[in-house]
Amino acid sequence: MAGAGYLDKLNDNQRAAVEFGVGGDTLPPPLLVIAGAGSGKTNTLAHRVAHLLVNGADPRRILLMTFSRRAATELTRRVERITAQAMGTSVAAEALTWAGTFHGIGARILREHALSIGLHPEFSIHDREDSADLMNLSRHGLGFSKTESRFPAKGTCLAIYSRAVNAEAPLGDVLRDHFPWCAPWQAELKQLFGAYVQAKQVQNVLDYDDLLLAWAQVMADPGFAGHIGAIWDHVLIDEYQDTNRLQARILLALKPDGRGLTVVGDDAQSIYAFRAATVRNILDFPDAYTPRADVITLDRNYRSTQPILAAANAVIGLAKERFSKNLWTERASAQKPRLVTVQTEAEQARYMVDRILEDRETGMKLKDQAVLFRTSSHSVQLEAELTRRNVPYVKFGGLKFLDTAHVKDLLSFLRLARNARDRVAGFRVLQLIPGIGPKAAGHVLDALDLAADPRAALEDVAAPARAGADWPGFVTAMTTQAVWPAALSLARAWYDPHLDRLHEDAESRRADLLQLEQIATGYPSAEAFLTDLTLDPPDATSDQAGVPLKDEDYLILSTIHSAKGQEWKSVYLLNAVDGCIPSDLGTGSTHELEEERRLLYVAMTRAKDRLTLGLPLRFYVTQQTRNGDRHVYAMRTRFIPKEILAHFEALHWSPAQNGSAPRPAPAPINVAATMREMWS
Ligand code: ATP
Ligand code: MG
Repeated sequence: MAGAGYLDKLNDNQRAAVEFGVGGDTLPPPLLVIAGAGSGKTNTLAHRVAHLLVNGADPRRILLMTFSRRAATELTRRVERITAQAMGTSVAAEALTWAGTFHGIGARILREHALSIGLHPEFSIHDREDSADLMNLSRHGLGFSKTESRFPAKGTCLAIYSRAVNAEAPLGDVLRDHFPWCAPWQAELKQLFGAYVQAKQVQNVLDYDDLLLAWAQVMADPGFAGHIGAIWDHVLIDEYQDTNRLQARILLALKPDGRGLTVVGDDAQSIYAFRAATVRNILDFPDAYTPRADVITLDRNYRSTQPILAAANAVIGLAKERFSKNLWTERASAQKPRLVTVQTEAEQARYMVDRILEDRETGMKLKDQAVLFRTSSHSVQLEAELTRRNVPYVKFGGLKFLDTAHVKDLLSFLRLARNARDRVAGFRVLQLIPGIGPKAAGHVLDALDLAADPRAALEDVAAPARAGADWPGFVTAMTTQAVWPAALSLARAWYDPHLDRLHEDAESRRADLLQLEQIATGYPSAEAFLTDLTLDPPDATSDQAGVPLKDEDYLILSTIHSAKGQEWKSVYLLNAVDGCIPSDLGTGSTHELEEERRLLYVAMTRAKDRLTLGLPLRFYVTQQTRNGDRHVYAMRTRFIPKEILAHFEALHWSPAQNGSAPRPAPAPINVAATMREMWS
């Protein structure tokens, strides 16, 4: 075979996983690779795809599913590099036409087959915020928010609904196990969810969960499942530990005998149970198929230095469940992970930015460093410090480009132009027109609802009384048929005058929208563009622009959840305190606590060479007591108890000390022993 050298770097188990069943007359039997952090699972998956291609597999008949679009892009690039090395020519990433997230692939399947499965081909996709808004409209429609002043908020209602759907669990169980304080409203919630589902159907709307739910439901039809399953020979999935029951069901329907199926993951890194993911999927995978799926484990960690790995192993070693993997590494280092005690969050930010810039001075790019945190809001002080000192950054998993009002306005306009029944988009866009409030907007939308062709009907709708001169322009912009991406320019032209009226910083928002238009030119259609932006929007950056600054060096800020699968030379973790991680001071269930422990493990195992945990002492956390909440000082996270403290280098730092050199903590003194020694 042409240059199999690309397999030489792999260790025996990795190589076994790459070659498993490839090159035979039939598709390979199902394979599970279950292994610890940094053991090369994703790398192995990339090599396996490349190996399939080298052995003649058709790239269009390979389905790759990963946790985020970013991860999918990285994986396809890796495949490209490996095939280039192996074959002299690379398989262009575009040839791997089916790479993405479960939700993204689901959206594509549903859209392509919409007519045959009873969906409107131009259905809108609602993001979480839109869904919560629609839930709220349904809630008001039923009058629950009025009669019951303590009725769960829209976000809570959506969380309950989403959990029940993704876990395929009865509402009563979900309430009992996860939302006990909402249990008294079970009957009302059931009614509400019925109304919510109906509203979505009338409005041709699917929410995130529907992309899986509807996909799973149509896959229950053997004819349809067979048709869809036949699109791909090979289905390969990364981070399988974070899939939910719907996803497992879809997979089983796609490949009932498991042939061509490869999944990889790490049960010690399952961190999405709060969104109904279940680690049972990966643990039960081998038995889901007959004959049983093969299992390959990997135990050598290539990512982290020995002290970092030892500390991470110590943290996960205290978990209630036993994870069977014992990772080892050959990467020796004298530097233990640092646990840096500071007084305040501001000091923590200052300490970290000092170190980050110092490292940049000595040649470590900002891009090789990342600051992680449990919750997006924890990075506020750090962001302020970075801005003050002019350090560019990109924030993953935080406020998205899409969450900004002007971007949302424009996208809602596009959505409404394609699907005039989408009320959440409708309310948003109509109220941009001066003189139109919720009531008038409601009337317009009601009129459109009744029309057979709502978009055409817009031309006949009576102009709302106070909309005045702005109405005809709106109708024209909305009903003009424009090819993509001219449709976006048209929307932007309509929206432009409103920007100055609505926002003081209209200029910078204008620049954002221009950028949005540039992103749009990379898409073949409005649907593809809207789907991608809704499911996986660009991350926020320090200069407020939507896409990361090209060719520029920037620091990564990320929630731990969004850092999954990634690695950096130097990793910082903010607020390694009880109340942040675990996020809940002792009120959570054991399951929830254990998930927080795994989260810390995920954070620590992102680091290759250097790991620094911040521990601000004067950090208030909320403690729930019988008499209500009270604020207390934070303590070191319970996941690093005294027994394993020796794996860390403990430092105290304060800005007063002459610049910023860290001062080692005083060595522990055993006064009792000293006293005894006096007399021995
Ligand atoms: P995670 O659990 O965090 O997703 P992973 O198991 O997917 O980790 P990878 O990201 O694939 O691990 O690999 C971790 C690092 O180890 C990468 O930098 C990768 O290039 C490197 N690596 C993996 N296998 C080898 C190998 N055989 N030789 C050298 N480096 C390797
Ligand atoms: Mg990985």
